[in-house]
Amino acid sequence: MAQLPSLLGLNREQLAAALAELGEQKSFRTSQLQEWIWKKRVTDFEQMTNLPPDLRRQLASRYSIMPLQVVEQHRSQSGSATCKFLSRLLRDDELIESVLIPAAVGKDGDRSNRVTLCVSSQVGCAFGCRFCASGLLGLKRSLTTAELIGQIFAAESLACHRVDNLVFMGMGEPLANIDNLLPALHLITDPSFLAIGARHITISTSGHVQGLARLKTCGIPVRLAVSLHGATDDVRSQIMPVNRRWPLSELLPALENWRRHSKHIITLEYILISGVNDDPQQSEHLVNIARRLHAKVNLIPYNKVERLPWERPEEDVCRRFCHELINHGIPCTFRYEKGHDIDAACGQLRRRRISSPAKSDKISE
Ligand code: SF4
Repeated sequence: MAQLPSLLGLNREQLAAALAELGEQKSFRTSQLQEWIWKKRVTDFEQMTNLPPDLRRQLASRYSIMPLQVVEQHRSQSGSATCKFLSRLLRDDELIESVLIPAAVGKDGDRSNRVTLCVSSQVGCAFGCRFCASGLLGLKRSLTTAELIGQIFAAESLACHRVDNLVFMGMGEPLANIDNLLPALHLITDPSFLAIGARHITISTSGHVQGLARLKTCGIPVRLAVSLHGATDDVRSQIMPVNRRWPLSELLPALENWRRHSKHIITLEYILISGVNDDPQQSEHLVNIARRLHAKVNLIPYNKVERLPWERPEEDVCRRFCHELINHGIPCTFRYEKGHDIDAACGQLRRRRISSPAKSDKISE
């Protein structure tokens, strides 16, 4: 049977219209339905006990709530408590990955109980960055608004905790799915829906200049991370085909424009790949770009992907690159990806599952 449309992608007016189509006009019914789904996170109409049984039956015959089902989860054994999960989209059985990341342990040894979720925005990706597992299988399709939100509901159920921070850094280019991303951001930030503050949301882009312009005008003050990974056009184009569509001469002015309207500092993500972008010339150009944008830099030593030729630089090369930035006054963090042991780099779990499908949808830990 075809998957029924999910209510997770609907705002209040759309929920009211869905109820009106079933002959239910009273606005308090919309409030009740909204409260069950968005405040209580109830995903089964039968449990909505203050709705009349007949309305519950009608809703269940026309709509679903969860648009996806978690089919695998892998918890890191490394102490980071990172949990990567694979979900099957009920609409067409496609697979996507999401990563739950608990807060780091603080200086005093306390673990804050804030939870971050890394969300996928597409099935696969059309952008084909040469170092990325998601790009290897190409783009299947963009996720619907309900599927973007469904990852949050699934994560909360796995973590038994509300998600506090969202990073759109999973599979896909979020700004290439801007038509579904913007309604999702409205639902996520609306106090009567998910109520996650915009400052707790980071959108990561590979440099989609057109989408950036639309994100800027939507009025939701999210944070921005840019996957730069090369500080000159020749290096960037070598590993990120998007640079041929929007080279640095277009991307950097767009980011300056973003910075002028945003109160948050831009983060430049820079994966260090041995012999590709880890030389002193690249660090010098990166210093200039970061200065121009008043940005901070997040350096990430490359996480090896099966079947790809790239390697992580030696540790002293990474440290030298980082010190070069710091010596020039650029705020710089150095991050090893959490969950190394669970294929935390985006797209690896899905790719493995596609090439050797599991016999059942049993959750493995
Ligand atoms: S790094 Fe991001 S934009 Fe590039 S191929 Fe991977 S998912 Fe797509």
